[in-house]
Amino acid sequence: MSSSISYGTTNIAYDVEFRERKTLAIEVHPDRSVHVVAPLKATPEEIQSKVEKRAPWIAKQQRYFNGAKRIGTEKEWISGENVFYLGRQYRLKVDIGIADVKMAGKYLKVTVPDKSNKSQIEALVNSWYLRRARIKLEERILLFHPMLEREGLDFNSLIIRKLEKRWGSCTTKGNIVINAELIKTPIHCIDYVIIHELCHLKYHNHGTSFWKLLNKYCPDWVKLKDKLESFPI
Ligand SMILES: [Zn+2]
Repeated sequence: MSSSISYGTTNIAYDVEFRERKTLAIEVHPDRSVHVVAPLKATPEEIQSKVEKRAPWIAKQQRYFNGAKRIGTEKEWISGENVFYLGRQYRLKVDIGIADVKMAGKYLKVTVPDKSNKSQIEALVNSWYLRRARIKLEERILLFHPMLEREGLDFNSLIIRKLEKRWGSCTTKGNIVINAELIKTPIHCIDYVIIHELCHLKYHNHGTSFWKLLNKYCPDWVKLKDKLESFPI
């Protein structure tokens, strides 16, 4: 069964699936479709009234997915698209030429023999990010040498790679792993992740001593974590 309600100037369409359950659940999917799972005995009126009640939340989710799609990972790899580097927004410019990527002014310029070869453009841009991340993060970690010395931290090496779900992690051998994607975010957010992982070299958990140490070297961490989590990479 599918139906719709109006909410402000927009129309929220939804489909309903009936299941043996007690409560009604509303799901908003990344393609912005709304799926209602209702108890077998729910009437269309009851369902509609529940959807109306949750309309502000539904609209918010849809806006979120809308934005995520516009600037998120699903890129078309064409000129004019937004890309991020160190928290700043640049425009992608794709031209024909030998395979290369460089930053020039407000543009990230990519040249490829065939502009329709999206996977080559994507691979070029990703390896450019990875190279930049290696250079920049090595540079940042040097800044934290005084902290390492003072706290007697046993830092071994910095590893940059693309992680799926987290910004960073550390191993008991003193290796810090940082997500290459972090290079897209503002420098202070990068520093926060580095300091967070360095603190884990001393405390391998999120206990009181850990937070105390983090506060000492990164007093703004709550603000930076929020900024990082809402950053539209
Ligand atoms: Zn942690």
